[in-house]
Amino acid sequence: MQDYWIRSVTDDGTVRAMAAVTTRTVELARQRHATAPTATAALGRTLTAAGLLGTVLKAGQTVMVRVLGDGPLGGALAMSDSNGAVRGYVANPDVHLPLTPTGKLDVGGAVGRGTLHVTLDLGMRYPYHGSVPLVSGEIGEDLASYLVTSHQIPSVVALGVLVSPDERVLAAGGLIVQVLPGADGGVIDYLEERARVLPTVTTMVSSGRTPEEMVLAALGEVRSQVVERQPVRFRCGCTVEKVRGVLASLGEDELRDILSEQGQIEVRCNFCGKRYTFGEDDVQKISGGRHATNGERPAT
Ligand SMILES: [Zn+2]
Repeated sequence: MQDYWIRSVTDDGTVRAMAAVTTRTVELARQRHATAPTATAALGRTLTAAGLLGTVLKAGQTVMVRVLGDGPLGGALAMSDSNGAVRGYVANPDVHLPLTPTGKLDVGGAVGRGTLHVTLDLGMRYPYHGSVPLVSGEIGEDLASYLVTSHQIPSVVALGVLVSPDERVLAAGGLIVQVLPGADGGVIDYLEERARVLPTVTTMVSSGRTPEEMVLAALGEVRSQVVERQPVRFRCGCTVEKVRGVLASLGEDELRDILSEQGQIEVRCNFCGKRYTFGEDDVQKISGGRHATNGERPAT
C-alpha cells in the first residue's frame, strides 16, 4: 500500500478524523538519517504527527512540529505541507534504548521531559506558534495535550512505528479523532469508549488496514465522509541552488578557507540527509554570482 492520509468528517461537521499510513515514508526517513530503532520510532511519530496536522492546511501553508526534551534524543523536528510532503530529523539518530517493560520502543525515555512546539505558517504576516509541556514524551499524548490546550479541541491521538529486528520500518501511521463544538454528549462518550478498545496503530497498519478502515475502527457507528485524500511522501525542498545561496552568504574568504582545509565543501541537508559537495570551480561560481548580484563584475 502506498502511504496516504485522509480527512473525514461527519455530516453535521461535529466530529473530524484524520488517519495516515506512513510506513514507506518513515522507512525512507530512517535510511536517509541512518536512525537506530528508538530514534526511528521518535522520528516516525513526529513525521506522522506533522503529516496529520497538515491534513487541515490549505495550499502554501505549512506546519512544523518540534519535540524538544532533555533525553538522549536531543529533539525531533518535522514539517509538512498540505499535500502530504513531510520531512524531518532527530538531533541524535544513534539513540537506541532498552525496550520498555511492555516490550515497546522507549520513545518517552529517548525524548525525556520538555516541550512540544507546533508552528503553523498560514501565510499570514506572523506564523502561529503554540507549545505545551510534554506529557510523556511518547508524542501522541503530547500532541493530544497540545490540541486540547492550544486549540480547545478534545482529541484522541494515536501514533505508531513498528521496527523489525533488522531495523527496517514494518508499519507506521497515525490517527486523530476530534470532537468539534456542537457535538452531542452521547457521541463524545461513545468515541471515548471506542478509543479505549481501539487496536494500536501499528497493529492496524501491519495487518493491512487502510486509513479509511482506521477511521471506521475509531468512529464505529458514527458515520463520516472522506473529504480529502493525499499521498504522503518524504520529500525535502532542498536544491543545489538553495545550498549555493547559503554558501554565498558565508563569503568567499570563508569558503576558500574551508576548501583549503578540507579539499572540498560538503553540506548536508538536516531535513533529508542529502549531501551536496562543492569544489574550486563551484566556489568561483558562487562568489562570482554573489558579486554579480551586488552589481559588481565577477572577478575573473
Ligand atoms: Zn533536504
